[in-house]
Amino acid sequence: MGKYLIILMCSARIGENDLKKIPYFCTNCAKEVPSLEKLLFVESNNTKGFCSESCIMDFYKPYMNFLSHYEITKRESLDLAQEDSYIDIYSDGTLLDEVLNGPDEKLEFENDIGDKYFFQVKYLVNRNIYFAIICTYYNEDPSFIYFKIVTKYSELIDGFKELFSKTEDRSSFQHIDIPEDVLAQVNLKKSEQLALLLERKATSDIDFEKFALYDDYIKPTLEDADEVYEYEDDSMDTIATYIKSFKKQDLNFYYVVMCLQIDFNDQKGSKRAMLPILTFPSIDNELYTFYAVGKSLNTKIKN
Ligand SMILES: [Zn+2]
Repeated sequence: MGKYLIILMCSARIGENDLKKIPYFCTNCAKEVPSLEKLLFVESNNTKGFCSESCIMDFYKPYMNFLSHYEITKRESLDLAQEDSYIDIYSDGTLLDEVLNGPDEKLEFENDIGDKYFFQVKYLVNRNIYFAIICTYYNEDPSFIYFKIVTKYSELIDGFKELFSKTEDRSSFQHIDIPEDVLAQVNLKKSEQLALLLERKATSDIDFEKFALYDDYIKPTLEDADEVYEYEDDSMDTIATYIKSFKKQDLNFYYVVMCLQIDFNDQKGSKRAMLPILTFPSIDNELYTFYAVGKSLNTKIKN
């Protein structure tokens, strides 16, 4: 008992008085920062810590300059006409909050040393304009904004997505105006596919009436599918099917998003888009075999 006490006292004495810790230094100005709590971070899982807001700005200046310059050269190469300065949009805190916390589209890029960049876009329907940002995340929240852009040109937004091309192919969501004739074709395919599904569906599977409760799974399925298949249907249309497994409470199910590839022209030229025509959850492995058909484009290794 006595021996045990002495050991405790020794370790406390070393910790408080004798053991000198190697201090923290600001990543930018190299000034000593008295404690970890005083260090400012803008990225999770990253050791870059700063002494002040101004050091953060200083450090990231080259990145911000790069992005500004990228915008200028993109506008030139795309031959885009001069735009408004959109000062009212840039200075609207509510709009910025929507881009940060409720974007229509969010792309992520991680470079070879683990730095993560996020590109978020909100389409302002009533203004027919895109508001996008490039930012970092700290503890699940956007923390530092490298760059903001407001533009009416979807080509410019696409130009920025090239920097985030790793995930671009599968997770690009946009609001687009679809011409009437294309829409008619889409609606026809929708009803055909829904009729087929209802024919194939087992009575023990998730009720059709409950499908809407699973709508939140559409986006994650498209963004990060376990499997993607593509085939041409009888009318030579390209159909892509995205499938992903989920667990909701104790229910294991998979979610299917079937999309029709459409090509059409609008005032800005020819466009290609994938439009969801059938979305549903299922627990039935037999039903799965009807939808996991065609050329496999992506198969993640599953545990
Ligand atoms: Zn500093």
